[in-house]
Amino acid sequence: MKVYEKAPAKINLLLDVLHKREDGYHEVEMIMTMVDLADRLEMEELPRDTIIISSQAGYIPLDEKNLAFQAAKLIKDRYDVKQGVYIHLDKKIPVAAGLAGGSSDAAATLRGLNRLWKLNIPDLELQELGAELGSDVPFCVTGGTAIARGRGEKLEMIPNPPQCWVILAKPPINVSTADVYGRFRVDKLNGHPSMADMISAIENQQFHDVCGQLGNVLEDVTLSLYPEVHQLKDAMMKLGADGVLMSGSGPTVFGLVSKESKVARIYNGLRGFCKEVYAVRMLT
Ligand code: ATP
Repeated sequence: MKVYEKAPAKINLLLDVLHKREDGYHEVEMIMTMVDLADRLEMEELPRDTIIISSQAGYIPLDEKNLAFQAAKLIKDRYDVKQGVYIHLDKKIPVAAGLAGGSSDAAATLRGLNRLWKLNIPDLELQELGAELGSDVPFCVTGGTAIARGRGEKLEMIPNPPQCWVILAKPPINVSTADVYGRFRVDKLNGHPSMADMISAIENQQFHDVCGQLGNVLEDVTLSLYPEVHQLKDAMMKLGADGVLMSGSGPTVFGLVSKESKVARIYNGLRGFCKEVYAVRMLT
């Protein structure tokens, strides 16, 4: 038997850091939502007790370092499943981009194996399992739009933002999330984005207010390290995106656009100097 799952990319409409915790993690407050750029996973039962991962993408690990492998191992161990599984990952989400591609693959694996092996694990329990794999995994289990607190694993669902186009551009650099958080100083911040204003913009479905409230306190760190991310942001704004922000710790920059007529111009303008550009819809 085979099951298929889609693993969409996430973007942060807001990312705030409140303080550094005793355990070394940062206490965050984020609003996450999903966009229609997704990896596709195929999971097939194997009679042998083994986990095999394959992918057309040459640049991700296919062994126990792969988050889909780790998700399969976790669910097998926890629910004492003796069958094995073959998982093929059709990667579409750029890797190490700030789009939670690996986390979404892990979440899709948990959902898929729950169906394949008829385990009937409720979503909340799948999210708890996901939290053992990474802070973004619980959100990716259910998707939608959520406020995430703690390390990102404490979720409160909110309505989806108004439908729009999302243009994503990833410069050809690798940004380490740990490095960005390591350099981040909460006491050096000039201010925090307003969670309350963003929530009311979303609840009232005010697209331009959502654009006005976009904020990510990690931007300054990544932008100072990588001027090309700064250039990309400027270019996206000049080309006419309604709101522009870096996702996660970067380096992907996204632009929100309400009018379809603007999308091709922004996409083509960016493609002039950035190879990886995507124009997709918000997943609402
Ligand atoms: P986040 O936004 O959660 O920080 P990201 O988009 O920056 O995530 P990922 O694409 O999830 O980063 O990849 C981060 C690292 O995880 C890469 O170095 C990659 O080798 C490794 N990795 C493990 N499994 C996967 C997977 N299934 N897909 C992509 N990367 C994976």
